Amino acid sequence: MPLLDVQNLEVRYGKAVVLERVSLQVAACELVGVIGSNGAGKTTLLRAISRVLASTGTVRFDGKDLAGMPAYKVVAEGICHCPEGRHLFQELTAEKNLRLGAYLRADRGGIESDLERVFGLFPALRERRSQQAGTLSGGEQQMVAVGRALMGKPKLLVLDEPSVGLALRLKATIFNAIDDIRRAGTAVLLVEQDALSTLRIADRVYVLERGHIVREGTGRELLDDSDIQRFYLGV
Ligand code: ATP
Repeated sequence: MPLLDVQNLEVRYGKAVVLERVSLQVAACELVGVIGSNGAGKTTLLRAISRVLASTGTVRFDGKDLAGMPAYKVVAEGICHCPEGRHLFQELTAEKNLRLGAYLRADRGGIESDLERVFGLFPALRERRSQQAGTLSGGEQQMVAVGRALMGKPKLLVLDEPSVGLALRLKATIFNAIDDIRRAGTAVLLVEQDALSTLRIADRVYVLERGHIVREGTGRELLDDSDIQRFYLGV
């Protein structure tokens, strides 16, 4: 049984159908990517899975139907969503922002060791833990956003375009961290415009076009596919 099982998801904004019969699965410990061009519906898909947005179809997680479940309960079930645009508390320090990710947890020891884990993944944040989030660089803010989602101790980490707008070196830092997170046993659903980096690290990838899943395969299969190379890798 997959950890996340999405069947026939549909989202409309007014009369516009933004997602149509979208089905996807993520297994435990799997890193699944979703690539697609601007406006394909990637953010909408993640928001519907996290129940921030109403949809039809079914979303089952860890054997439970998430229909009608409010977003905060979805977090308690083990889905932590790192949204596009980071949404940090600008006046709070980096560390306070990270600790807010653990707001539903009571295991103090676990919280401290997960904070250490985040600093291990992103050493730059250890040095800047007392700095106001709003004064961090874009890359550092992105690290805080990913780290904050990890502090929720997710079974499934949902990441919306974590590398957008970052310089190459910082992109590599973020993708390496995502790879480490998966290797440590957390399933990841990663939406990205950087198709090449995503195909390289993901176990499986779905291609979303105008609200439909049009392809699915392993990262390797899609990297070798001439249509994918032409449309998404600019080869
Ligand atoms: P990008 O890569 O540019 O972030 P995306 O693949 O994440 O794009 P979405 O943000 O999911 O795409 O948007 C999908 C479509 O839904 C777009 O055409 C967008 O304009 C539309 N849309 C998104 N939010 C709303 C809204 N609140 N009201 C109306 N239309 C919306």
